[in-house]
Amino acid sequence: MATDIDKFVHDQLSVWPKVAAKYRSLKSAQTRTLPYGGLLVTLQCNPGRLPIFDHGCPLCEENYMEKQHTLPFEGRKGRKYNILVNRAPIFPNHLVITRDQHVPQTIWHRFPDMLDLAAALEGYVVFYNSPNSGTSVPGHAHFQACPKGYMPLERAAERILRAVAAGDDTPEAEFIGSTRDAQLYHFKRFNRGVFFLRAQTAKSMAKQFYRLLDCLNLVAEETEPRFNALAYCSEGEYRAVVMLRSASRPHFPLSPGTADMAGFVVVPEVADFPRITPEVLQGIYEDVTLSEEDEKRLLWRLVRTQPRIEVGVVAAPEIRFEIISDGAGPQTVSFREGRIDYNGALYDELVFEAVTISTLFAEPSFILYLEGGPHRYAGTLKFVVEDGKVQAVNLLGAEDWLLSVISLVPAAQQRPEAVRRRRWLYERMEAGIIRCQDYIGLTDKADAAARAAVDETWGKLE
Ligand SMILES: [Zn+2]
Repeated sequence: MATDIDKFVHDQLSVWPKVAAKYRSLKSAQTRTLPYGGLLVTLQCNPGRLPIFDHGCPLCEENYMEKQHTLPFEGRKGRKYNILVNRAPIFPNHLVITRDQHVPQTIWHRFPDMLDLAAALEGYVVFYNSPNSGTSVPGHAHFQACPKGYMPLERAAERILRAVAAGDDTPEAEFIGSTRDAQLYHFKRFNRGVFFLRAQTAKSMAKQFYRLLDCLNLVAEETEPRFNALAYCSEGEYRAVVMLRSASRPHFPLSPGTADMAGFVVVPEVADFPRITPEVLQGIYEDVTLSEEDEKRLLWRLVRTQPRIEVGVVAAPEIRFEIISDGAGPQTVSFREGRIDYNGALYDELVFEAVTISTLFAEPSFILYLEGGPHRYAGTLKFVVEDGKVQAVNLLGAEDWLLSVISLVPAAQQRPEAVRRRRWLYERMEAGIIRCQDYIGLTDKADAAARAAVDETWGKLE
Protein backbone atom coordinates (compact mmCIF):
# COMPACT_ATOMS: atom_id res chain seq x y z
CA MET A 1 0.00 0.00 0.00
CA ALA A 2 2.99 2.37 0.59
CA THR A 3 3.55 2.97 -3.12
CA ASP A 4 -0.19 3.52 -3.54
CA ILE A 5 0.06 6.20 -0.87
CA ASP A 6 2.94 7.95 -2.63
CA LYS A 7 0.90 8.04 -5.82
CA PHE A 8 -2.25 9.07 -3.95
CA VAL A 9 -0.49 12.03 -2.30
CA HIS A 10 1.20 12.99 -5.57
CA ASP A 11 -2.09 12.91 -7.53
CA GLN A 12 -3.91 14.85 -4.84
CA LEU A 13 -1.30 17.60 -4.66
CA SER A 14 -1.06 17.90 -8.43
CA VAL A 15 -4.68 19.12 -8.56
CA TRP A 16 -4.64 21.13 -5.32
CA PRO A 17 -2.10 23.95 -5.64
CA LYS A 18 -3.09 25.64 -2.36
CA VAL A 19 -2.30 22.55 -0.31
CA ALA A 20 0.65 21.60 -2.53
CA ALA A 21 2.15 24.98 -1.61
CA LYS A 22 1.92 24.06 2.08
CA TYR A 23 3.78 20.81 1.48
CA ARG A 24 6.41 22.72 -0.51
CA SER A 25 6.91 25.31 2.21
CA LEU A 26 7.25 22.48 4.74
CA LYS A 27 10.49 21.53 2.99
CA SER A 28 11.97 24.93 3.78
CA ALA A 29 10.35 25.28 7.23
CA GLN A 30 12.76 26.34 9.95
CA THR A 31 13.64 23.55 12.34
CA ARG A 32 16.10 23.17 15.17
CA THR A 33 16.87 20.60 17.81
CA LEU A 34 16.92 20.94 21.57
CA PRO A 35 18.24 18.44 24.10
CA TYR A 36 15.48 17.44 26.49
CA GLY A 37 14.98 14.44 28.76
CA GLY A 38 17.70 12.36 27.13
CA LEU A 39 16.40 12.89 23.59
CA LEU A 40 16.94 15.52 20.93
CA VAL A 41 13.59 17.24 20.46
CA THR A 42 12.80 18.74 17.04
CA LEU A 43 11.19 22.18 16.89
CA GLN A 44 9.39 23.07 13.69
CA CYS A 45 8.30 26.62 12.90
CA ASN A 46 5.01 26.10 11.06
CA PRO A 47 2.74 29.15 10.64
CA GLY A 48 0.80 27.25 7.95
CA ARG A 49 -0.60 25.09 10.74
CA LEU A 50 -2.90 27.84 12.04
CA PRO A 51 -5.85 28.42 9.69
CA ILE A 52 -8.18 25.49 9.92
CA PHE A 53 -11.85 25.23 9.03
CA ASP A 54 -14.22 27.19 6.96
CA HIS A 55 -17.57 25.63 7.82
CA GLY A 56 -18.92 22.49 9.47
CA CYS A 57 -17.01 19.39 10.46
CA PRO A 58 -13.94 19.20 8.20
CA LEU A 59 -13.87 15.39 8.38
CA CYS A 60 -17.44 14.86 7.17
CA GLU A 61 -17.64 13.91 3.52
CA GLU A 62 -20.18 16.61 2.68
CA ASN A 63 -17.68 19.25 3.84
CA TYR A 64 -14.69 17.90 1.91
CA MET A 65 -13.05 20.43 -0.35
CA GLU A 66 -14.01 20.04 -3.98
CA LYS A 67 -10.59 18.72 -4.85
CA GLN A 68 -10.30 16.27 -1.96
CA HIS A 69 -9.29 12.77 -3.04
CA THR A 70 -10.08 9.76 -0.86
CA LEU A 71 -8.68 6.27 -0.52
CA PRO A 72 -10.93 3.73 1.20
CA PHE A 73 -9.78 1.65 4.16
CA GLU A 74 -11.79 -1.11 5.79
CA GLY A 75 -11.53 -1.41 9.59
CA ARG A 76 -12.85 -4.24 11.78
CA LYS A 77 -16.56 -5.11 11.96
CA GLY A 78 -17.45 -3.18 8.83
CA ARG A 79 -16.08 0.15 10.03
CA LYS A 80 -15.15 2.17 6.97
CA TYR A 81 -12.54 4.89 6.76
CA ASN A 82 -11.40 7.44 4.19
CA ILE A 83 -7.71 8.19 3.86
CA LEU A 84 -7.15 11.88 3.07
CA VAL A 85 -4.15 14.13 2.55
CA ASN A 86 -3.85 16.45 5.57
CA ARG A 87 -4.56 20.04 4.54
CA ALA A 88 -2.43 21.52 7.34
CA PRO A 89 0.66 19.29 7.26
CA ILE A 90 3.51 19.06 9.70
CA PHE A 91 5.08 16.08 7.90
CA PRO A 92 5.54 15.20 4.23
CA ASN A 93 2.84 12.69 3.19
CA HIS A 94 0.84 13.64 6.29
CA LEU A 95 -2.41 11.66 6.19
CA VAL A 96 -5.74 11.82 8.03
CA ILE A 97 -7.68 8.57 8.26
CA THR A 98 -11.26 9.42 9.08
CA ARG A 99 -14.38 7.36 9.78
CA ASP A 100 -16.98 7.62 7.02
CA GLN A 101 -19.52 8.62 9.70
CA HIS A 102 -19.63 11.56 12.09
CA VAL A 103 -19.04 9.57 15.30
CA PRO A 104 -17.02 10.87 18.29
CA GLN A 105 -13.29 10.33 18.62
CA THR A 106 -12.71 7.24 20.76
CA ILE A 107 -10.17 4.43 21.01
CA TRP A 108 -12.53 1.84 22.55
CA HIS A 109 -12.86 -1.00 20.02
CA ARG A 110 -10.84 0.99 17.47
CA PHE A 111 -7.26 0.21 18.50
CA PRO A 112 -7.29 -2.95 16.31
CA ASP A 113 -8.25 -0.69 13.37
CA MET A 114 -5.24 1.45 14.20
CA LEU A 115 -2.99 -1.63 14.16
CA ASP A 116 -4.49 -2.83 10.86
CA LEU A 117 -3.73 0.59 9.41
CA ALA A 118 -0.16 0.40 10.71
CA ALA A 119 0.20 -2.98 8.99
CA ALA A 120 -1.28 -1.68 5.74
CA LEU A 121 0.73 1.57 5.69
CA GLU A 122 4.22 0.15 5.41
CA GLY A 123 6.88 2.70 6.27
CA TYR A 124 4.33 4.83 8.13
CA VAL A 125 3.50 5.57 11.74
CA VAL A 126 -0.21 5.81 12.62
CA PHE A 127 -1.09 8.10 15.51
CA TYR A 128 -4.04 9.02 17.68
CA ASN A 129 -5.01 11.89 20.00
CA SER A 130 -7.64 11.10 22.62
CA PRO A 131 -10.59 13.56 22.70
CA ASN A 132 -9.04 15.84 25.34
CA SER A 133 -5.43 15.41 24.30
CA GLY A 134 -4.70 17.63 21.37
CA THR A 135 -7.23 16.69 18.73
CA SER A 136 -8.83 19.62 16.93
CA VAL A 137 -11.81 17.50 15.80
CA PRO A 138 -13.00 15.50 18.86
CA GLY A 139 -16.44 15.12 17.28
CA HIS A 140 -15.29 12.96 14.38
CA ALA A 141 -13.30 9.75 14.81
CA HIS A 142 -9.96 9.77 13.00
CA PHE A 143 -6.31 8.76 13.03
CA GLN A 144 -3.32 10.40 11.40
CA ALA A 145 -0.25 8.94 9.76
CA CYS A 146 3.17 10.12 8.65
CA PRO A 147 6.36 8.49 7.38
CA LYS A 148 8.52 6.78 10.01
CA GLY A 149 11.50 8.48 11.58
CA TYR A 150 10.29 12.03 12.26
CA MET A 151 9.28 11.75 15.91
CA PRO A 152 12.21 11.46 18.35
CA LEU A 153 10.27 9.28 20.78
CA GLU A 154 9.30 6.92 17.99
CA ARG A 155 12.99 6.61 17.04
CA ALA A 156 13.89 5.92 20.68
CA ALA A 157 11.16 3.27 20.91
CA GLU A 158 12.40 1.61 17.75
CA ARG A 159 16.00 1.54 19.01
CA ILE A 160 14.97 0.06 22.35
CA LEU A 161 12.39 -2.42 21.04
CA ARG A 162 14.90 -3.63 18.44
CA ALA A 163 17.37 -4.28 21.24
CA VAL A 164 14.72 -6.03 23.32
CA ALA A 165 13.61 -8.15 20.35
CA ALA A 166 17.24 -9.20 19.88
CA GLY A 167 17.34 -10.29 23.53
CA ASP A 168 19.46 -7.40 24.83
CA ASP A 169 18.86 -5.60 28.10
CA THR A 170 18.33 -1.89 28.02
CA PRO A 171 18.64 0.32 31.09
CA GLU A 172 16.42 2.98 29.51
CA ALA A 173 13.25 0.90 29.64
CA GLU A 174 11.88 -1.32 32.36
CA PHE A 175 9.88 -4.44 31.58
CA ILE A 176 6.48 -4.13 33.27
CA GLY A 177 4.47 -7.14 32.17
CA SER A 178 3.01 -9.13 29.35
CA THR A 179 -0.30 -10.34 27.98
CA ARG A 180 0.20 -13.46 25.87
CA ASP A 181 2.72 -12.41 23.20
CA ALA A 182 2.49 -8.69 24.01
CA GLN A 183 5.07 -6.98 26.20
CA LEU A 184 4.90 -3.67 27.99
CA TYR A 185 7.89 -1.47 28.89
CA HIS A 186 8.10 1.74 30.87
CA PHE A 187 10.45 4.28 29.26
CA LYS A 188 12.40 5.89 32.06
CA ARG A 189 13.64 8.97 30.22
CA PHE A 190 11.99 11.95 28.52
CA ASN A 191 8.58 12.56 30.15
CA ARG A 192 6.71 10.58 32.79
CA GLY A 193 3.98 8.19 31.68
CA VAL A 194 5.66 6.96 28.47
CA PHE A 195 5.20 3.26 27.62
CA PHE A 196 6.44 1.06 24.77
CA LEU A 197 4.54 -2.01 23.57
CA ARG A 198 5.40 -4.81 21.21
CA ALA A 199 3.47 -7.90 20.09
CA GLN A 200 3.25 -10.50 17.38
CA THR A 201 -0.53 -10.34 17.09
CA ALA A 202 -2.96 -7.43 17.00
CA LYS A 203 -5.19 -9.22 19.49
CA SER A 204 -2.55 -9.42 22.24
CA MET A 205 -1.35 -5.92 21.46
CA ALA A 206 -4.87 -4.56 21.90
CA LYS A 207 -5.34 -6.50 25.14
CA GLN A 208 -2.13 -5.11 26.60
CA PHE A 209 -2.95 -1.61 25.38
CA TYR A 210 -6.42 -1.58 26.95
CA ARG A 211 -5.00 -3.01 30.16
CA LEU A 212 -2.63 -0.07 30.35
CA LEU A 213 -5.46 2.42 29.76
CA ASP A 214 -7.60 0.64 32.38
CA CYS A 215 -5.00 1.49 35.01
CA LEU A 216 -5.39 5.21 34.43
CA ASN A 217 -8.04 7.30 36.16
CA LEU A 218 -10.66 9.00 34.03
CA VAL A 219 -11.15 12.74 34.36
CA ALA A 220 -14.74 13.45 35.49
CA GLU A 221 -17.23 13.65 32.59
CA GLU A 222 -14.67 12.43 30.07
CA THR A 223 -15.10 9.25 28.06
CA GLU A 224 -11.55 7.93 27.90
CA PRO A 225 -8.23 8.52 29.66
CA ARG A 226 -6.06 11.34 28.34
CA PHE A 227 -3.28 9.99 26.17
CA ASN A 228 -1.55 10.08 22.84
CA ALA A 229 -0.39 7.01 20.98
CA LEU A 230 1.49 5.97 17.89
CA ALA A 231 1.75 2.52 16.33
CA TYR A 232 3.68 0.96 13.50
CA CYS A 233 4.99 -2.37 12.24
CA SER A 234 8.64 -3.31 12.28
CA GLU A 235 10.60 -6.57 12.12
CA GLY A 236 7.36 -8.50 11.67
CA GLU A 237 5.71 -7.25 14.84
CA TYR A 238 3.44 -4.48 16.07
CA ARG A 239 5.07 -1.71 18.08
CA ALA A 240 3.53 1.25 19.85
CA VAL A 241 4.28 4.20 22.08
CA VAL A 242 1.65 5.39 24.55
CA MET A 243 2.05 8.77 26.24
CA LEU A 244 -0.25 9.15 29.24
CA ARG A 245 -1.26 12.66 30.26
CA SER A 246 -2.27 14.58 33.34
CA ALA A 247 -5.79 15.50 34.28
CA SER A 248 -4.98 19.21 34.50
CA ARG A 249 -5.86 21.72 31.82
CA PRO A 250 -2.94 22.85 29.68
CA HIS A 251 -2.25 26.58 29.84
CA PHE A 252 -1.41 26.72 26.17
CA PRO A 253 -4.07 27.62 23.62
CA LEU A 254 -3.23 24.61 21.46
CA SER A 255 -3.06 21.46 23.54
CA PRO A 256 -0.08 19.38 22.37
CA GLY A 257 -0.88 16.36 20.22
CA THR A 258 0.97 13.10 19.57
CA ALA A 259 3.75 14.69 17.50
CA ASP A 260 4.51 17.30 20.19
CA MET A 261 4.33 14.69 22.96
CA ALA A 262 6.68 12.48 20.97
CA GLY A 263 9.29 15.23 20.72
CA PHE A 264 8.36 16.78 17.37
CA VAL A 265 7.14 20.16 18.61
CA VAL A 266 5.24 22.42 16.25
CA VAL A 267 5.54 26.16 16.91
CA PRO A 268 2.80 28.02 15.02
CA GLU A 269 3.95 31.56 15.95
CA VAL A 270 7.15 32.69 14.22
CA ALA A 271 7.97 35.05 17.11
CA ASP A 272 7.89 32.18 19.62
CA PHE A 273 10.24 29.99 17.66
CA PRO A 274 13.62 31.38 18.85
CA ARG A 275 12.30 31.76 22.41
CA ILE A 276 11.86 28.08 23.13
CA THR A 277 14.56 26.84 25.50
CA PRO A 278 14.75 23.50 27.30
CA GLU A 279 13.17 25.28 30.31
CA VAL A 280 10.24 26.59 28.26
CA LEU A 281 9.80 23.15 26.77
CA GLN A 282 9.79 21.62 30.22
CA GLY A 283 7.01 24.04 31.21
CA ILE A 284 4.94 22.98 28.21
CA TYR A 285 5.43 19.29 28.98
CA GLU A 286 4.99 19.57 32.76
CA ASP A 287 1.54 20.97 32.19
CA VAL A 288 0.27 17.93 30.36
CA THR A 289 2.47 15.13 31.68
CA LEU A 290 1.27 12.55 34.20
CA SER A 291 2.09 13.65 37.76
CA GLU A 292 4.67 11.73 39.77
CA GLU A 293 1.97 10.42 42.09
CA ASP A 294 -0.29 9.29 39.23
CA GLU A 295 2.60 7.55 37.51
CA LYS A 296 3.48 5.71 40.72
CA ARG A 297 -0.10 4.56 41.20
CA LEU A 298 -0.35 3.48 37.58
CA LEU A 299 2.87 1.41 37.79
CA TRP A 300 1.62 -0.20 40.98
CA ARG A 301 -1.70 -1.11 39.39
CA LEU A 302 0.16 -2.65 36.46
CA VAL A 303 2.33 -4.93 38.57
CA ARG A 304 0.30 -5.68 41.67
CA THR A 305 -0.92 -9.21 42.31
CA GLN A 306 -3.61 -10.89 44.37
CA PRO A 307 -3.67 -14.29 46.06
CA ARG A 308 -5.75 -16.94 44.32
CA ILE A 309 -8.62 -18.37 46.33
CA GLU A 310 -11.15 -21.17 45.86
CA VAL A 311 -14.79 -20.39 46.48
CA GLY A 312 -17.56 -22.96 46.52
CA VAL A 313 -20.48 -21.63 44.48
CA VAL A 314 -23.09 -24.37 44.23
CA ALA A 315 -23.50 -28.12 44.73
CA ALA A 316 -26.20 -30.04 42.83
CA PRO A 317 -26.81 -33.38 41.06
CA GLU A 318 -26.57 -31.51 37.76
CA ILE A 319 -25.08 -28.11 36.85
CA ARG A 320 -25.40 -26.12 33.60
CA PHE A 321 -22.51 -23.88 32.72
CA GLU A 322 -20.94 -22.02 29.82
CA ILE A 323 -17.31 -21.08 29.15
CA ILE A 324 -17.60 -17.68 27.49
CA SER A 325 -14.44 -17.82 25.37
CA ASP A 326 -14.87 -21.28 23.81
CA GLY A 327 -18.09 -20.50 21.95
CA ALA A 328 -19.50 -23.98 22.66
CA GLY A 329 -22.60 -22.62 24.39
CA PRO A 330 -24.23 -24.04 27.56
CA GLN A 331 -22.95 -27.47 28.74
CA THR A 332 -23.99 -29.81 31.52
CA VAL A 333 -22.13 -31.82 34.16
CA SER A 334 -23.88 -34.34 36.39
CA PHE A 335 -23.16 -36.75 39.25
CA ARG A 336 -22.92 -40.39 38.11
CA GLU A 337 -21.37 -43.46 39.76
CA GLY A 338 -19.50 -41.34 42.31
CA ARG A 339 -17.86 -39.25 39.59
CA ILE A 340 -18.58 -36.33 37.25
CA ASP A 341 -20.26 -37.05 33.93
CA TYR A 342 -19.31 -34.60 31.22
CA ASN A 343 -20.26 -35.41 27.60
CA GLY A 344 -20.57 -39.10 28.47
CA ALA A 345 -17.10 -39.46 30.00
CA LEU A 346 -16.50 -39.74 33.76
CA TYR A 347 -14.08 -37.52 35.68
CA ASP A 348 -12.94 -37.16 39.29
CA GLU A 349 -12.34 -33.49 38.72
CA LEU A 350 -12.82 -31.07 35.80
CA VAL A 351 -10.99 -27.78 35.40
CA PHE A 352 -11.67 -24.98 32.89
CA GLU A 353 -8.64 -22.76 33.33
CA ALA A 354 -8.96 -18.96 32.98
CA VAL A 355 -6.29 -17.30 30.87
CA THR A 356 -4.92 -14.92 33.48
CA ILE A 357 -5.45 -13.75 37.01
CA SER A 358 -6.09 -10.05 36.84
CA THR A 359 -4.25 -7.28 38.59
CA LEU A 360 -7.14 -4.98 37.89
CA PHE A 361 -10.63 -6.30 37.88
CA ALA A 362 -11.33 -9.43 35.96
CA GLU A 363 -13.48 -9.94 32.92
CA PRO A 364 -16.14 -12.64 33.14
CA SER A 365 -14.89 -16.00 31.91
CA PHE A 366 -17.81 -18.34 32.59
CA ILE A 367 -21.52 -18.47 33.38
CA LEU A 368 -23.34 -20.75 35.81
CA TYR A 369 -27.06 -21.26 35.22
CA LEU A 370 -28.36 -21.29 38.78
CA GLU A 371 -31.91 -21.48 40.11
CA GLY A 372 -32.27 -17.71 40.23
CA GLY A 373 -30.88 -17.27 36.71
CA PRO A 374 -27.46 -17.02 35.04
CA HIS A 375 -24.50 -15.64 36.99
CA ARG A 376 -21.22 -14.50 35.47
CA TYR A 377 -17.87 -15.30 37.06
CA ALA A 378 -14.26 -14.31 36.57
CA GLY A 379 -11.38 -16.78 36.85
CA THR A 380 -11.19 -20.56 36.65
CA LEU A 381 -14.10 -23.00 36.97
CA LYS A 382 -13.52 -26.34 38.67
CA PHE A 383 -15.98 -29.19 39.29
CA VAL A 384 -15.39 -31.63 42.15
CA VAL A 385 -17.48 -34.39 43.72
CA GLU A 386 -18.98 -33.71 47.13
CA ASP A 387 -21.56 -35.71 49.11
CA GLY A 388 -23.17 -37.33 46.11
CA LYS A 389 -23.29 -34.09 44.16
CA VAL A 390 -21.17 -32.08 41.76
CA GLN A 391 -19.75 -28.94 43.30
CA ALA A 392 -18.82 -25.90 41.21
CA VAL A 393 -15.73 -24.15 42.58
CA ASN A 394 -14.54 -20.78 41.37
CA LEU A 395 -10.78 -20.07 41.49
CA LEU A 396 -10.20 -16.35 41.35
CA GLY A 397 -8.23 -13.47 42.80
CA ALA A 398 -9.03 -12.41 46.36
CA GLU A 399 -9.61 -8.82 45.23
CA ASP A 400 -11.96 -9.91 42.45
CA TRP A 401 -13.96 -11.87 45.00
CA LEU A 402 -13.95 -8.84 47.26
CA LEU A 403 -15.28 -6.59 44.51
CA SER A 404 -18.25 -8.90 44.14
CA VAL A 405 -19.16 -9.08 47.84
CA ILE A 406 -18.50 -5.39 48.49
CA SER A 407 -20.90 -4.40 45.69
CA LEU A 408 -23.80 -5.45 47.88
CA VAL A 409 -22.77 -3.10 50.69
CA PRO A 410 -24.00 0.55 50.84
CA ALA A 411 -21.40 2.85 49.24
CA ALA A 412 -20.55 4.73 52.44
CA GLN A 413 -19.47 1.49 54.17
CA GLN A 414 -17.62 -0.08 51.26
CA ARG A 415 -14.08 0.95 52.27
CA PRO A 416 -14.14 -0.31 55.88
CA GLU A 417 -16.12 -3.37 54.78
CA ALA A 418 -13.53 -4.17 52.09
CA VAL A 419 -10.77 -4.22 54.71
CA ARG A 420 -12.87 -6.22 57.20
CA ARG A 421 -13.93 -8.88 54.67
CA ARG A 422 -10.42 -9.17 53.26
CA ARG A 423 -9.22 -9.93 56.78
CA TRP A 424 -12.02 -12.50 57.14
CA LEU A 425 -10.95 -14.07 53.84
CA TYR A 426 -7.23 -14.14 54.58
CA GLU A 427 -7.90 -16.01 57.84
CA ARG A 428 -9.68 -18.76 55.90
CA MET A 429 -8.05 -19.05 52.51
CA GLU A 430 -5.24 -21.40 53.60
CA ALA A 431 -7.81 -23.94 54.81
CA GLY A 432 -9.23 -24.77 51.34
CA ILE A 433 -12.52 -23.99 49.69
CA ILE A 434 -14.16 -20.82 50.98
CA ARG A 435 -17.89 -20.80 51.54
CA CYS A 436 -19.63 -17.46 51.41
CA GLN A 437 -23.33 -16.76 50.92
CA ASP A 438 -22.69 -13.22 49.66
CA TYR A 439 -20.66 -14.30 46.66
CA ILE A 440 -22.76 -14.35 43.51
CA GLY A 441 -20.02 -13.83 40.91
CA LEU A 442 -19.52 -10.64 38.96
CA THR A 443 -22.45 -8.34 39.40
CA ASP A 444 -23.77 -5.30 37.64
CA LYS A 445 -23.62 -3.60 41.02
CA ALA A 446 -19.80 -3.59 40.84
CA ASP A 447 -19.83 0.10 39.97
CA ALA A 448 -17.14 2.77 40.08
CA ALA A 449 -17.58 3.32 43.84
CA ALA A 450 -17.15 -0.38 44.64
CA ARG A 451 -14.13 -0.60 42.34
CA ALA A 452 -12.58 2.44 44.01
CA ALA A 453 -13.19 0.94 47.48
CA VAL A 454 -11.32 -2.26 46.55
CA ASP A 455 -8.66 -0.48 44.49
CA GLU A 456 -7.79 1.96 47.27
CA THR A 457 -7.65 -0.70 49.98
CA TRP A 458 -6.02 -3.38 47.74
CA GLY A 459 -4.25 -5.95 49.90
CA LYS A 460 -4.83 -4.01 53.14
CA LEU A 461 -5.89 -5.95 56.23
CA GLU A 462 -6.38 -3.02 58.57
ZN1 LIG B 1 -17.73 14.93 10.92
